[in-house]
Amino acid sequence: MKIILYPKELLEMAWRKDKKLYVDDDAAEPPKCLRCGAVLAAHLPINALSRYANVYICESCGMDEALRDAARKPIPLEEWEAIKQGWLPKPEKGRICCLTTNCTFEEVFQHTYTPPMQIIKRPVSEVVYSRSDYDGYKWWTTWHNERGQKPAPELVAEIDKFQNTLFKLPAFRTLDTMKRFCRYAQPTNGTTEFNLYSETEHLYIWIRLITRFRDYNVYVHYYDKNAVEGTQ
Ligand SMILES: [Zn+2]
Repeated sequence: MKIILYPKELLEMAWRKDKKLYVDDDAAEPPKCLRCGAVLAAHLPINALSRYANVYICESCGMDEALRDAARKPIPLEEWEAIKQGWLPKPEKGRICCLTTNCTFEEVFQHTYTPPMQIIKRPVSEVVYSRSDYDGYKWWTTWHNERGQKPAPELVAEIDKFQNTLFKLPAFRTLDTMKRFCRYAQPTNGTTEFNLYSETEHLYIWIRLITRFRDYNVYVHYYDKNAVEGTQ
C-alpha cells in the first residue's frame, strides 16, 4: 500500500515525467503548465518553481502565485488545470490510497448512535479509531472501539496496513513536519485543527490533525463501507 497526498503528489509525479523533455534546461517541445495549461517556456529557468508543489509552472502563474501568496489567497491545487480537466492518470485503486481535502462520504455522519454512558453521537459504521500524540520524541497511540465488537479480520488487516503506512510518511516524522504538512489539509474553524480523508477497499477514513503540542495530535477514524451502505 502506498499513501499519497492528493493532488500534490500526483502533480509532482506528472512534473517528474514532463521534466524529462528538458535536456540541459532546454526543451524542443516544452510541456504544458500544470497550473494553467499554457505551454511552458522552452528554457526551463524562465518558468517558476511553484510555492505549493515541487513543480515548474509558467512565468505568469509564478507571478500570480506570488501575488496570491502575499494576499494569503492561493488557488487550491484541486483548481489547477491538470486536475480540473483530468489530464493526469487516476491513482491505481487498491494499491494507492489518496489523502484528500474533501470528504466524499458525508453519509457516514448522518447515521449515528449514542454509546452507553456517553453524550457524543458516533457514526454507526465506525469500526475503531486511534488517538496519537507526539511527545517530542515519538508517537504514542491508543485504540478505541466504542462498539465493543470485534472487527472482521479483513478490516483489521486493512486498518493495520493503513495506519502503519500513514505514520511512516515523512509528514509524521515530528509534530513540526506534521504542522507543515497541514497546509495541504482541509482547514477547520480552529486554526490548529485540520482534516484529511481517505479510503481503502472496505473502509472510509477520516483523519483529524491537531497541531497543538501536548495535546492529542492525530485521530484516525475507520468506518466500515458495508455498514454505511447497509443503513441506506
Ligand atoms: Zn501557467
